Amino acid sequence: MSAKTGPRPSTHCPHCGCRVRNVKTDQITATYREITYVCDNCDAQFIAALEVVRMLRPSSMPNPNVRIKFVNYGHA
Ligand SMILES: [Zn+2]
Repeated sequence: MSAKTGPRPSTHCPHCGCRVRNVKTDQITATYREITYVCDNCDAQFIAALEVVRMLRPSSMPNPNVRIKFVNYGHA
């Protein structure tokens, strides 16, 4: 089974500004993951975080252990 790979979260080196390479991803909780990046230009290595912060549409298979703030943009 081949997983579909969408666009990966990417960022730039905070020191030299070059695009960095993702070398490791750790899923910490259902809504939070840490991504280790390496800069091939200046040799820096750092961890960035990716977190689900708001829901725009409810899930059809809600996880009872996950609580995420719901934002209703259709609200008048
Ligand atoms: Zn760099």
